[in-house]
Amino acid sequence: MGTAMMEAIKTLLAQGLREMGLTPPEGAVDKLCRYGELLLEQNQVMNLTAITDPAGVTQLHFLDSAAVLTHAGVSLAGKSVVDVGTGAGFPGMVLKILEPSLSLTLVDSLGKRVHWLAAVCEALSLDGVRCLHARAEELALEPGYRDAFDIAASRAVAAFPALCELCLPYVKPGGVFLAMKSVDSAEETAAGETAVKRLGGRLLDSIDYQIPGTEVSHRLVRVEKAAPTPKGLPRSWGKIKKAPL
Ligand code: SAM
Repeated sequence: MGTAMMEAIKTLLAQGLREMGLTPPEGAVDKLCRYGELLLEQNQVMNLTAITDPAGVTQLHFLDSAAVLTHAGVSLAGKSVVDVGTGAGFPGMVLKILEPSLSLTLVDSLGKRVHWLAAVCEALSLDGVRCLHARAEELALEPGYRDAFDIAASRAVAAFPALCELCLPYVKPGGVFLAMKSVDSAEETAAGETAVKRLGGRLLDSIDYQIPGTEVSHRLVRVEKAAPTPKGLPRSWGKIKKAPL
């Protein structure tokens, strides 16, 4: 990225974060810009994102992911956070850069992406990030992962009923699952009410937000974990897909 483009992106990012009421810690804007550069560079040889312009990455990946901090309803400072189906690191990496005190676990079933994320963490000197190559529904059966996190977050991974089975098992009672969804997700959210209950959760609310500098609105669906995950859940992906709870 040329210097002029880099400066324009920094301004777009800093303005957007300010508009969202977020104060980035020292060095965070630079780290996000470097992350964006690494993403676009690697995207030429590996499928990481369909968004290929720096402004699009800034708004539709960085600012969208940052909206979790604004709308989570709880502070993420010092919390344990798992990002399920993180892909190229959204929303988890952005949350970690903007709130360095959180401990982050990134989970994805695609090894190549996870290895790239580990290299990015190294390049950005991010401490307290685990990059795990695993299927979410399998890892959640393991002690240390099951009912273990303060917060689970996920974007663009599955329809809400299946997504709940992939994510809610990670959350400890009293914690929250934050599902990043489109604004027309009311039907799938309603269809997931049984899944939420079966997994020991309680649907809290849905918050719509507009990404600064765009006409794009997205939704954060918040689910509280009220009780431990019942035995036998989550099921295999075949069962989750074929017969959502
Ligand atoms: N969350 C990222 C984002 O919003 O840009 C990536 C979204 S991408 C469409 C979905 C990601 O979820 C892919 O990287 C895929 O490998 C991962 N994924 C899908 N099912 C999964 C599962 N059962 N366990 C772990 N990762 C999964």
